[in-house]
Amino acid sequence: MAQNIWVFCEQRDGEIQSVALELLGVAKELATKTGEKVGAILLGHKIKDKAQDLIAYGADEVHVVDDKELACFLTEPYAQATAQLAKQYQPSVILFGATSIGRDLAPRLSARLKTGLTADCTKLENDENGNLFMTRPAFGGNLFATIICPDHRPQMSTVRPGVMKKCEPDYNRKGEVVEEKIEWDKSKFGVTVIEEIKNDDSCDIDGKIEDAKILVSCGRGVKDVAPAKELACKVKGAVAASRALVDVGVMDHSRQVGQTGKTVRPQAYLAFGISGAIQHLAGMEESEFIVAVNTDKSAPIFKVANLGIVADAAAVIKNLNKLL
Ligand SMILES: Cc1cc2nc3c(=O)[nH]c(=O)nc-3n(C[C@H](O)[C@H](O)[C@H](O)COP(=O)(O)OP(=O)(O)OC[C@H]3O[C@@H](n4cnc5c(N)ncnc54)[C@H](O)[C@@H]3O)c2cc1C
Repeated sequence: MAQNIWVFCEQRDGEIQSVALELLGVAKELATKTGEKVGAILLGHKIKDKAQDLIAYGADEVHVVDDKELACFLTEPYAQATAQLAKQYQPSVILFGATSIGRDLAPRLSARLKTGLTADCTKLENDENGNLFMTRPAFGGNLFATIICPDHRPQMSTVRPGVMKKCEPDYNRKGEVVEEKIEWDKSKFGVTVIEEIKNDDSCDIDGKIEDAKILVSCGRGVKDVAPAKELACKVKGAVAASRALVDVGVMDHSRQVGQTGKTVRPQAYLAFGISGAIQHLAGMEESEFIVAVNTDKSAPIFKVANLGIVADAAAVIKNLNKLL
């Protein structure tokens, strides 16, 4: 019988991704209801020492595959490893972050396991019998659909980073670390990594928006983003944008907040010249403190703002830069 709630714990360069820790928190809540265990899948090379972190964040058992075939993410080896583990242990649920890796891997796995997958969930609940209720926006974000997978196991879902809250780590928690070996079918490895070229992450303002504590976010009302970038640098934050600035090529899509961008939950979200369309709010309204600057006092962004300033965005940014 299928049992236990698993989380695919994505790591990059040996660093566990924040979304994996968020998912362990949800998995723990789901497992409390059914009396199951929380299992973490940790794949990579030279990553074994990260297992303890996963236990601290809620995993009861960590299935580690430490193998050089998994040093870089490639779909086929990762799909073979996760499929083999899932077939062996038969978890009732497997959760993935809706990252580029999770979005690539989860559908492969669901096809191999002949089960369903609900993408981009914003809420996960379950009943005592272990049925998972996976809620996600539908019809352009105008309504929420709750999807179930009653006839197949595991129940699979991807969840966008920043949507769920991590629990506080407890490094006194005890858990089991199981080292797994995979029987590779190398005849299916069609891709080889020749060289890995990384983005230059040395500048903080270009850091991942889902990890930033402070976001300086610009919309169409910001004509020049350079002072906003200076502000982001001064407050040790990152720059983000509404889709309006992404569509015109001023900002990269990786900086877009919202329904078709990223979901963020920073300690402070500074929205400059952003109207607050529903698709934008969907990605930032859970921020801890929202400051909105807009010349239009009836802009919808003010409805979610903790502090609203009716003013010219460029002038406020200029003054803040001067003050800081
Ligand atoms: C299916 C779908 C998915 C979408 N996904 C996303 C998404 O992921 N993210 C997203 O952001 N949008 C998304 N959109 C687009 C969204 O509907 C809005 O069009 C977009 O968010 C508007 O961006 P904006 O607020 O920057 O621009 P606008 O709506 O044009 O607002 C500009 C604001 O700037 C103010 N302003 C003008 N001049 C100044 C000034 N000098 N100082 C201060 N304020 C000023 C104006 O009063 C106005 O409120 C999506 C739309 C659809 C249909």
